[in-house]
Amino acid sequence: MTVQACTRSVDETRQLGEAVAGLARPGDVVVLAGDLGAGKTAFVQGFSRGLGIEDRVTSPTFTLVHVYDGGRLPVHHLDVYRLDQLSEALDLGLAEMLDGDGVVLVEWGDAITPVLPHHLLEVRVTFGEGDDDRRLAFRAVGSSWHGRLPQLELALGPWSEQC
Ligand code: ADP
Ligand code: MG
Repeated sequence: MTVQACTRSVDETRQLGEAVAGLARPGDVVVLAGDLGAGKTAFVQGFSRGLGIEDRVTSPTFTLVHVYDGGRLPVHHLDVYRLDQLSEALDLGLAEMLDGDGVVLVEWGDAITPVLPHHLLEVRVTFGEGDDDRRLAFRAVGSSWHGRLPQLELALGPWSEQC
């Protein structure tokens, strides 16, 4: 089952990410899919702000992983676009991250689903008609996020209406 939301600016995508963060629990995994420039990093920026993280969140394209503390939950922000092999994800310490109390958000994460847990939230970002229009499709995989779908729908309400 998927929940759709549509945003019309980068700030709206950040606000939406902030709203989704309200549902986050220790150990959550969020997989972000979508082409370059879709808004995956923008979503993580809002999500981190929603957890109370004040640091400036930037794309971990070259460093592959950024960790942000100081919020309600620690955030591990990964971008695995440059990984050639699944084993490299494990080399980054993925297992330890997944074991911790933080939230793991993975850009291009659909490429490494074999090494991710079976419970996760997938967010697929696609381009809309206008330059600043985006559609975000949320899919709960596993019972952990399935149980939160009603709250997710509620949180996404303002943006779902825009689709
Ligand atoms: P990704 O991480 O998917 O490559 P980014 O979040 O880094 O994408 O960049 C998204 C780009 O698209 C930014 O330049 C942002 O300003 C622009 N943008 C325009 N409209 C939106 C929108 N509705 N949501 C997110 N980003 C948007
Ligand atoms: Mg990015």
